[in-house]
Amino acid sequence: MKKTSINKISDLAAELLGKGTLVAPVKEDAGFNFREISNAGQVDLNFYNTLMSPKSAFFPQTEDFVRYDKNKSVLDAQCVDLNLKPVFLFGVRPCDAKSFQIMDIHFSGTGVVDPYWKKRREATTVFGYAFDINTPADGADFYSTLNIGAADPEGSDVFMMKRGDELLLKAVTPKGETLLASLTSLADASADEQKYFDDTVAAGRDFKTRFTCVDDKVIAKKLEDLFHKTEFWEKISDACLSCGACTFVCPTCYCFDICDETLFSKGVRRRVWDACMFTDFTLEASGHNPRTKVYQRLRQKICHKYSFHVRKYGVISCVGCGRCTRNCPVNIDIFSIVDEALKA
Ligand code: SF4
Ligand code: SF4
Repeated sequence: MKKTSINKISDLAAELLGKGTLVAPVKEDAGFNFREISNAGQVDLNFYNTLMSPKSAFFPQTEDFVRYDKNKSVLDAQCVDLNLKPVFLFGVRPCDAKSFQIMDIHFSGTGVVDPYWKKRREATTVFGYAFDINTPADGADFYSTLNIGAADPEGSDVFMMKRGDELLLKAVTPKGETLLASLTSLADASADEQKYFDDTVAAGRDFKTRFTCVDDKVIAKKLEDLFHKTEFWEKISDACLSCGACTFVCPTCYCFDICDETLFSKGVRRRVWDACMFTDFTLEASGHNPRTKVYQRLRQKICHKYSFHVRKYGVISCVGCGRCTRNCPVNIDIFSIVDEALKA
């Protein structure tokens, strides 16, 4: 295990920048967000969690796949190459690190592999970062409901936590081990620090966010039973604006659209994030739309995460990060909906 002083974090950032691309939380007007770092001094670990999830490190909000010229043969179209350097994704909270494993199911785990996601995952070393277990969790968070600890190293390659003025770093995977061994700005941690690290990981399992007892099979069946109870869904979606903010900030929402943008003869085929909360998400070419009502779309989002996903992949597709609740303009709260569904 290794350590460094918090006030020397820029030395570690500079070393990582020398080895590849560093993506870390940066303070912006609206809050912290993961951004590519250009100056080692930008890295700031004094954040609770980022506004947007770190999923864009693997699944950018817009991504060009193919460039073409309409006046030329289709055979002249050029695939956009990734040409990735090693990427260091720094300061990922345990619930978000867990979300990458859920997203892996869709982008590389079911036999159809998305090469863009896969290449980025392979090129990236994830530095997880424990929540401060001595400070209460944000009121929107409920990751402990989903059995995720505040200091769980799972899903990270290197896991970090603060101890006073120091940052402790422990390798979780062989990739993390190789990297840590190569970083000269780090010192060896003492046996006492190793014990502190292990004790904190264990204490993080007892740290409570909002909590309700959710058994994945029970909630999956409960939502299935509630599916046709229109009054339940109309009540919970009454205020929903269909703005899609909850899906864009979510680390486990992965819907996208493919569109072409052309200017004169030049064109680009592009993937862009989409959202099941948008009215035209299910609009078919015939003009038919099976989800014209707001309650149908909110029902889809909840049932997808807590019922269909459990049935199909055996895991709830939500990590309790609380972002959807924090960012909903009308305070719709997925935790309360799940809780209400369990009691219905
Ligand atoms: S549904 Fe909400 S709480 Fe769950 S992972 Fe997405 S943003 Fe986080
Ligand atoms: S953020 Fe709130 S209002 Fe917007 S689509 Fe989601 S639930 Fe509806």
